[in-house]
Amino acid sequence: MKVLVPVKRAVDYNVKIRVKSDQSGIELNNVKMSMNPFDEIAIEEATKLKEAGIVTEIIAVSIGPDKAQETIRTAMAIGADRGILVQTDAPTDIGGVEPLAVAKTLKAIVDKEKPDFIIMGKQSIDDDSNQTGQMLAALLGWAQGTFASELEIKDGKAIVTREIDGGLETIALALPAIITTDLRLNEPRYASLPNIMKAKKKELTVMTPEELGVDLTPRLSIVKVAEPAERVGGGKVSSVDELIDKLKNEAKVI
Ligand code: AMP
Repeated sequence: MKVLVPVKRAVDYNVKIRVKSDQSGIELNNVKMSMNPFDEIAIEEATKLKEAGIVTEIIAVSIGPDKAQETIRTAMAIGADRGILVQTDAPTDIGGVEPLAVAKTLKAIVDKEKPDFIIMGKQSIDDDSNQTGQMLAALLGWAQGTFASELEIKDGKAIVTREIDGGLETIALALPAIITTDLRLNEPRYASLPNIMKAKKKELTVMTPEELGVDLTPRLSIVKVAEPAERVGGGKVSSVDELIDKLKNEAKVI
């Protein structure tokens, strides 16, 4: 089986985000970029399925600047067999290409590559959209299993355990299907040095959106990006009576 894993180059999760002074986006100068963490989980899951003999080929796809080749190489060092970069110079300080345009591009890749299923992140940590997987499922007319915490591929079906509000839900999806990863699906491995070296030799195709016939013109415009409100520090009370007094007279909640 062939599996497609979209991987996004995003601001590293350890970076303290700074908003640009004109509130048009976030500062990216000298900021560390890495693979979106949910996509690392997706690559890990695809790699485990390959090790189990269920998957035969993993293709990592990224839509972004030339530098996103590094993200694809990281995916290859974990387990992807080959990579495709759809190169675009769309600004990355507002989270890169918007979800609908990413979904349309991925659909064009799916039409060419005909994968049996797609594993992708539930969310990018830069734009927090949580939309691309769902939009792609709609464009393709495929089933979707979002927020997966367990995945089994069996008898032509994807059995997905989903994290939902009150607990866990298990669903069976007819393939082809889209699975989006939640945090507890697995713990991605660190790429070993020999695998990083091997990844440099794997096939990476660079294409343009025009070659795929997709139009990435944004439909959304960012009105403004602002820092979150500063948190006001908590305080300690010395007795239950003082707490009740504060709840009654200061917070006015009882
Ligand atoms: P989002 O809808 O932006 O929160 O992203 C959800 C998932 O879509 C991510 O975890 C990636 O798997 C995929 N994705 C989003 N943007 C890109 C991109 N530019 N290149 C490759 N994959 C992407």
